Amino acid sequence: MHNQVSCGQSLAQYLVPMESGFQCAGCGEWNTTSVDASAGRRQHYVEDCQVCCRPNLLHIEYDPALQQFLILAELEAD
Ligand SMILES: [Zn+2]
Repeated sequence: MHNQVSCGQSLAQYLVPMESGFQCAGCGEWNTTSVDASAGRRQHYVEDCQVCCRPNLLHIEYDPALQQFLILAELEAD
């Protein structure tokens, strides 16, 4: 049983936060964010735009084909 050692490594890689980005729904500026992959393949959370400070509701989904997170942003309704 010496041939199973490398299995854990790809899992650890998947759990590392990934650099991604979204376009602000308020001003259209590009924002960078890091997605915590350990929180799951589908996530929703609010992040303020780094330019206009308006809250963007982010819909995040992991695309296994592209091996990255795709983020859709909309303004949070209040
Ligand atoms: Zn903005």
